[in-house]
Amino acid sequence: MGNIRTRALEEFTTHKAQRFYEEDRPVSEYFGTNVFDLPKMQRYLSAEAYNAVVNAINDGIKIERGIADQIAQGMKNWAVKMGATHYTHWFHPLTDATAEKHESFADPMVGGGVFENFKGSTLIQQEPDASSFPNGGLRNTFEARGYTAWDPSSPAFIIDQTLCIPTVFVAYTGESLDLKTPHLKSIAALDKAAQSICRMFDKNVTKVNIMLGIEQEYFIVDEAFYRARPDLMICNRTLIGHTAAKDQQLEDHYFGAIPSRVMAFMKDFETEAYKLGVTLKTRHNEVAPNQFEFAPVYGEANISSDQNLMMMIIMKKVAKKHKLKVLFHEKPFDGVNGSGKHCNWSMVTNTGVNLLSPGKTPRTNLQFLSFFSVVMKAVYEHNYLLMSSVASLNNMYRLGGHEAPPAVMSIFIGETLTKLVESIESLTDRNLTSSSEKEVKVRSKMHIVNQIPEIFADNTDRNRTSPFAFTGNRFEFRAVGSSCNVASSMFLLNTIVAQQLVKFKEEVDTNMQKGMAQDKAMMKIIRQYLSDSRAIRFEGNGYSEEWHQEAERRGLKGIKNAPDAFKEYITPKTLQLFEAVGVMTAREAQARYEVLNETFVKKLQIEARVLGDMITNHVIPTAFSFQNTLITNVKGIKELFPDEYRTMCSTQLHLIHKISGYVNKLHTLVGEMVDARKVANKIEDIPAKAEAYNSTVLPYMGKIREIADKLEMYIDDELWPLPKYRELMFFR
Ligand code: ADP
Ligand code: MG
Repeated sequence: MGNIRTRALEEFTTHKAQRFYEEDRPVSEYFGTNVFDLPKMQRYLSAEAYNAVVNAINDGIKIERGIADQIAQGMKNWAVKMGATHYTHWFHPLTDATAEKHESFADPMVGGGVFENFKGSTLIQQEPDASSFPNGGLRNTFEARGYTAWDPSSPAFIIDQTLCIPTVFVAYTGESLDLKTPHLKSIAALDKAAQSICRMFDKNVTKVNIMLGIEQEYFIVDEAFYRARPDLMICNRTLIGHTAAKDQQLEDHYFGAIPSRVMAFMKDFETEAYKLGVTLKTRHNEVAPNQFEFAPVYGEANISSDQNLMMMIIMKKVAKKHKLKVLFHEKPFDGVNGSGKHCNWSMVTNTGVNLLSPGKTPRTNLQFLSFFSVVMKAVYEHNYLLMSSVASLNNMYRLGGHEAPPAVMSIFIGETLTKLVESIESLTDRNLTSSSEKEVKVRSKMHIVNQIPEIFADNTDRNRTSPFAFTGNRFEFRAVGSSCNVASSMFLLNTIVAQQLVKFKEEVDTNMQKGMAQDKAMMKIIRQYLSDSRAIRFEGNGYSEEWHQEAERRGLKGIKNAPDAFKEYITPKTLQLFEAVGVMTAREAQARYEVLNETFVKKLQIEARVLGDMITNHVIPTAFSFQNTLITNVKGIKELFPDEYRTMCSTQLHLIHKISGYVNKLHTLVGEMVDARKVANKIEDIPAKAEAYNSTVLPYMGKIREIADKLEMYIDDELWPLPKYRELMFFR
């Protein structure tokens, strides 16, 4: 009995906290059991094959086919022993999702029966029939082939008895159809560029690892509620829903006690994560009700990014057991915080030096300042591009509201570093450094070393309102959306820093050719970069209105809307950057641009349809039902008190009117929205279509919602068919 909401409420209260993946062994005993990591390779591979993988990981050396056969054999033996029956090339098409097509290990034998078979060629390359992945015109159907190719730097793992092999996804022509390819290219380019600077300080540096630690925010809702809401089911966010009387204003959820059902889910999820070799470290409640966060310990960027996608899959699977749904959407609920992925990023040498960690000696500090100033300059030069990389329909609902970073780029560096930077900026050429070693020390000491210890003290002074913050030994990019593949932003960050490092080296070399000592040559460029990038430094409140005006004065462009931001991918400046660093061809950038626009259109189209359906099938009929009750009531009173009924029924009559007014408005707006879609759908050019959707369809989402949410407040709670915010967002 009752409507879908009341049934969901009943179902919800019957769910108990329960564990499904409990492990009584200590974590150290089962950590990594489901990953084919180096220790397992050592056991399952010959020395020759093992070394080949290690060389591929460390130096990108290609693996010979013959060796690949050996590796495949070892990998299969391990996987089959672990109970795997299938394998898949696991890749990341341009959809923010991961893709997999499972194949069985079993091959028929002559004379009957099967045997487990897995060849090197199968490990290295596959040709998935995947012509329907977005490709932005890179794969016309006549050349519809796409290849997945093994990425040995990210270890294979087992999920659901399937061996998953991380791969890149490229077209027949070799152009990338995924996010991993540009990410890997950017990592290699940054490694190379950073090494050449490092070797000016230490000849033993032969590798610079790009490190990434991702903090993932997410919401959890009860599955019964989720199923009762078409918007959550289809769009992963609520398209309507009045805010609850109480949500995050008391800030009692943040770091609060984790509800027991969620705790059971988290523990199960962590067990599975540990088995997959992910070192989950932090778990806590976030600011909004039902919002949570997890963060693994940082690691090599490509692996961190793969693991993040892997965790998103695992969380969904584990949540199902707990009759919960994980929402990775950037803004699932109006009026409360949205979710992001904070990307903590740094560079560490093979000699163990974190290049973004202020050093203890003048020389290591010079190295720190070189990298620090290069990042500042790079982010300044490409601030709009980097910000554009987080633009999407989802994230546009989040950015700039409720503790989400604003859509304009700025860097927070803290008080001590600001002082240091300002003092460097004020140095004259003469006292920049001196050729005498003694004086170099004295000067550097004065200006740099003395202040360094304070930088650590300053770490705690975090400015949460900044999209890009220096946090002691790393930069943290906070504008990235929670549902996306971080590679889409990280490959850009790597790329702009790689290009700037190359320029830095060239400029230092030029100075040295003019006879300048290396230290002075570097300090001169550092000073230049720090002063060039002054406009992007901002220590104040990024949420404030003043900052937006100030940013505009400084010439920093904020993102107005997603289709406009996407254009930054194909400006001559960006294309030249991509080409110079070798991460993407102009055709690939153009394709990505098309895909971004296409995705925007499709998502908004789906949202608009769902909203239209919900208004027509849920909201309006419910409004009529309630109105009928009122009408019956008025009629009854009129029968009993024919003379007084008008005064007696003033509330009912008022409501009847009010509801009619809202219903008519809703009906008109939904009709107009459908018309706007029809017009936009006729546009062939995808970017133009996205712009039309943005300017003519998107505004209706808010207008319609506003009225539906008002109606929700008028209509009898018993009748309202959609789980309300106060039910969706609170576990009791
Ligand atoms: P916050 O205080 O920002 O919430 P957390 O401790 O929750 O910080 O998460 C910080 C993330 O940054 C973790 O994933 C952590 O491993 C990572 N991290 C720490 N140091 C570095 C570093 N030098 N480079 C990259 N990531 C780092
Ligand atoms: Mg953080």
